[in-house]
Amino acid sequence: MSAIVGLVTIGAETPMGAFPQGQFMHDLAKRLWPLNRSLTGDGVRQTLSILGEHLPDLHIHEVPTGEQVFDWVVPNEWNLKDAYLIAPTGEKIIDLANSNVHVVSYSEPVDRELELDDLQAHLHSDPELPDAIPYVTSYYNPIWGFCLTQQQRDTLEPGTYRAVIDATLEPGSLTYAEWVLPGESEQEVFISTYVCHPSLANNELSGPVVAVALAKWLIEHTNRKFTYRFVFIPESIGSITYLSRNLDHLKENVVAGFNLTCIGDEGDYSYMQSRLAGSPIDRIAKRVVMRTPQPKIYTYVDRGSDERNYCAPGIDLPLISLMRTKYGSYREYHTSLDNLEFVTPAGLQGGFDLVKDCISEFEGSTYYQTTVLGEPQLGKRGLYHTMHLRTVAEEVLLRTHILAYSDGSHSVQDMAELFERPQQEIEILVSELLEHGLLVEVPPGKGN
Ligand SMILES: [Zn+2]
Repeated sequence: MSAIVGLVTIGAETPMGAFPQGQFMHDLAKRLWPLNRSLTGDGVRQTLSILGEHLPDLHIHEVPTGEQVFDWVVPNEWNLKDAYLIAPTGEKIIDLANSNVHVVSYSEPVDRELELDDLQAHLHSDPELPDAIPYVTSYYNPIWGFCLTQQQRDTLEPGTYRAVIDATLEPGSLTYAEWVLPGESEQEVFISTYVCHPSLANNELSGPVVAVALAKWLIEHTNRKFTYRFVFIPESIGSITYLSRNLDHLKENVVAGFNLTCIGDEGDYSYMQSRLAGSPIDRIAKRVVMRTPQPKIYTYVDRGSDERNYCAPGIDLPLISLMRTKYGSYREYHTSLDNLEFVTPAGLQGGFDLVKDCISEFEGSTYYQTTVLGEPQLGKRGLYHTMHLRTVAEEVLLRTHILAYSDGSHSVQDMAELFERPQQEIEILVSELLEHGLLVEVPPGKGN
């Protein structure tokens, strides 16, 4: 069992080959690809069942329709059995069997004949991407519809069509899964990703497969400082539901969190700050992402995934989002072109390494808090004229810098970077301040 600390691996070649986890993740995504996921329903359950093959004792939760979760209510459960559109010629021109994206997610059941003019209101295509089937949802507004390429839509002839969506939309439950790997401490690293999009690769499957690979990697490392909590939820309503049931525990114990989304393509590495941006994991993620060739840093103003709930006022978990190319900023996003050619073993490996490097650094970081309010009087402790480093003035300045930033949120490495001094110099002075009782170690982000 090797130590978890000190692995800096983004883009690094390893003895196991360039993509030791990448191929595993891509293969797992291929298995999950055909399942018809939505906010709720059997596609989610089947997905979680496959993930559970790799996560011992994965705990599945079912939350009944109608349960109040913060300002929302758990919706009806949707299950889609079959869907097709028959042209006036009798030909089946849209068939769910060809793509899960063909049906508007949460469509009401329908079996009716209608003229092309009336049908048009139920069709969705994207003139900007004429060869892509757009992905459309209508969870809370009851409609039905089909999605198709603009190219196909342009060929539709006038006449009577038959639209069939064989689905159920009725009370059931919202399904999510939770997996906990205990560490030395009860403080938790929280990892959230979503399982609610049908056959979409980057903006869906990349998250769960990177999460599973991380879990497998963490299991191998028995000397973990932190406890790791993974959740696999439907996006938005899932994070609302999870938070509404676990808020006190999360606020008490979570010291770092990650939302994993769009993390398997080969684009640039991206990090989205937590709402308040100053948490320990914010500083680490920034440092890790800045090591990559074209780093992208987004603020909370650019939010769009479950960070909307995890970092909302009053919740404010120290949670960041890690991505390759951010949702909404690649042309394949929310279309049938977001597929397993767009997501690759190399892309997934890079995404995995990004999170792994952040976790490794977090596990290896130490945080301190000053024990007095205001600047302590160094002279009466003999700390004003001692000299381990360079000059007395430099050393006093560095000592006061350390005291000024020992707020529980700046690690030794953060300070070294901020003060532009070697980490070892900080460590020497921190030891001395600890001996004099002017600093105490605290959990990350848990200073006064
Ligand atoms: Zn989405």
